[in-house]
Amino acid sequence: MQDFKEFQSVEFQCYQRLLKAEGFGFWEWVPEEDAVHLRGGFWRTLGYELGDSESVVRVSRLGEVIHSEDWHGFLKTTARVLGRGHRMQQRVRVRHSQGGYFWLCLDGEITRRRDLQISCVSGIAFDVSSQQELEQRLQKSEERLMRILDSSNDGIWEWTEALGGFHFSDRCWQQLGYDGHDDAMLMGRNRLEVWRELIHPEDRARFHQHLVDHLKDDSTFDLEYRVATKSGGWCWIRARGQCHRDGQGRAVSMSGTNMDITELKHTEERLVFAREEAVAASQAKSRFLSSMSHELRTPLNAILGYCQVFAMDSALSEQQQQSAREIRKAGNHLLQLINDVMDLSRIEAGQMSLSQEPVLVSRLLEECLTWIKPLADVRRIRILRDYGVLGEIYVLADATRLKQVLLNLISNAVKYNRESGLVTARLQASTGALRVDIEDTGRGIEEARQAEIFEPFNRLGAESSAIEGTGVGLSITRQLVNSMGGEMGFRSTPGKGSCFWVTFPSAADQEPAVEQNLSDAEIEQQPGLGDAPLRVLYIEDNPSNIRVLKQMLEAWPQVRLEVADEPFYGLYLARTSRPDVVLMDINLPRMDGFETLLFMQQDPCLQGIPVVALSANALPQDIERGKAAGFFEYLTKPVELPQLLAVLARLKVGGQ
Ligand code: ADP
Repeated sequence: MQDFKEFQSVEFQCYQRLLKAEGFGFWEWVPEEDAVHLRGGFWRTLGYELGDSESVVRVSRLGEVIHSEDWHGFLKTTARVLGRGHRMQQRVRVRHSQGGYFWLCLDGEITRRRDLQISCVSGIAFDVSSQQELEQRLQKSEERLMRILDSSNDGIWEWTEALGGFHFSDRCWQQLGYDGHDDAMLMGRNRLEVWRELIHPEDRARFHQHLVDHLKDDSTFDLEYRVATKSGGWCWIRARGQCHRDGQGRAVSMSGTNMDITELKHTEERLVFAREEAVAASQAKSRFLSSMSHELRTPLNAILGYCQVFAMDSALSEQQQQSAREIRKAGNHLLQLINDVMDLSRIEAGQMSLSQEPVLVSRLLEECLTWIKPLADVRRIRILRDYGVLGEIYVLADATRLKQVLLNLISNAVKYNRESGLVTARLQASTGALRVDIEDTGRGIEEARQAEIFEPFNRLGAESSAIEGTGVGLSITRQLVNSMGGEMGFRSTPGKGSCFWVTFPSAADQEPAVEQNLSDAEIEQQPGLGDAPLRVLYIEDNPSNIRVLKQMLEAWPQVRLEVADEPFYGLYLARTSRPDVVLMDINLPRMDGFETLLFMQQDPCLQGIPVVALSANALPQDIERGKAAGFFEYLTKPVELPQLLAVLARLKVGGQ
């Protein structure tokens, strides 16, 4: 008895401690009463004064302590539980006696009598505010995530070892045209297997390999592949994912997204197609232009060749000589037009390859000015130089193209100048660059038309004047200058004159290259042919070209010209008569000029004979190819007699 009492007393003290503790509150309600009995220290912490050891809240006044937003749900749940249940658990916001609300979890047992009437409902209550807040934050962040994923239109997939396999979000299926209900789609089958079957057969192995590699060594999982759609088409998917590993580095899950990139792929395909078409069109244009250039140069060779013959013919009257000069001028104009069109199309196609070498601008200016002087003299136009201390400055440019630029500006300054006018070539320093001004005292350019000046083939009305031109020069000039890293501009006052300027980056720390190309003036200073005989074999199939060259060289009897109108005969003649030099056309029947040259290079009998190409294939790449193949020189048609003589003279000097 004593023991039992002791036990009771220990138990009592234990309950006492529990009641005093602040973590839980105890409550009890007997249906016949209006009071809910609250016991325990917990209630006190919430501001509910306990009487001796308990406090009472009235059922009829519960609505005053429970948050209005939770009240309806509380009543509904309570009614349901009281009706049939034996356990209740719900969360409600309860008013703190000091104001404000906290989240309360009510966990209770329903005790029923034999007739199932409730005798008592009792349980515990505890504060779940922080848990509730955490859950709400989690829910909000999940909702935000879902909103982002929904708006990105991406599907999500996940593989978790623990959850047994793959899961695809509805969006993944919707991208393929299905209504998106995963389970209905699969009919119990493994999701990954179903997905694999839908992958395009050509992409399946790649998909598999990416997955295996990623799981093995974390290589990037980012691939594009096709998946069959419900309607029988293909959906392009960009899949990106990342696996997650446990402490031992074993992949335990992987998640990622599927982005529908079908539209993007179609656009890409259209772009590729459009690009291919554009490239094909541009190649066709280049082919057309180069064959046009070749076809026009061939008759021009005869026209300009005979003009040169006439110029040497003392039997012709002055009037006939004048007519020949007119024909030659027209022929040269046509040739210029061909060159300009070729240049323009090569620049537009990005095929103009320009070198960047240190070039002494004053030297090129001098060459151009010397070249243009006779033209200026005819119209009594004076040429002034204003180089100051900048005559020694090198710029970075392509020497040939820089010369083309300067020549165009200077010849315009002379062409569009007035009689007895002035052309000034000036050098000026500009930041990191050298600026060249070509100023004239000509008619200037109307303000209203200045914007059109760089338009190709636009001569701003000069076409109705006697001044020759194609209207392409400035357009080419500006593109060349820009391609060489420079700038170009002009100012013009109608009636007073214009100043065109170009800048080029200065080659401050670059070593100037040794200049190898001979200037026109230097060509003219070349040694003459001398009196010793020079045996020349000309391999050419075009009779008119043969006739014109024969007549051009008639004035040089020391040149013994032999002709072969096809390459095999040419090789035979070369073997038998061993000429000093072979002039070779390129477009020959049965075997072209390159093949014939190769033949000669491999034949010990012919190896030492220099071969000069004489061709209407006049594109820079033709010339480069010719030089690389081993031609001694590559001359283009129409043949310029002084140039040909200079080459022959060089050969003679070299051969002696
Ligand atoms: P082209 O001289 O062959 O006609 P350009 O492209 O060099 O072609 O020049 C285009 C046009 O700009 C010329 O036809 C001419 O009307 C005008 N132009 C060019 N340079 C000058 C200049 N220095 N003075 C006046 N007009 C010029």
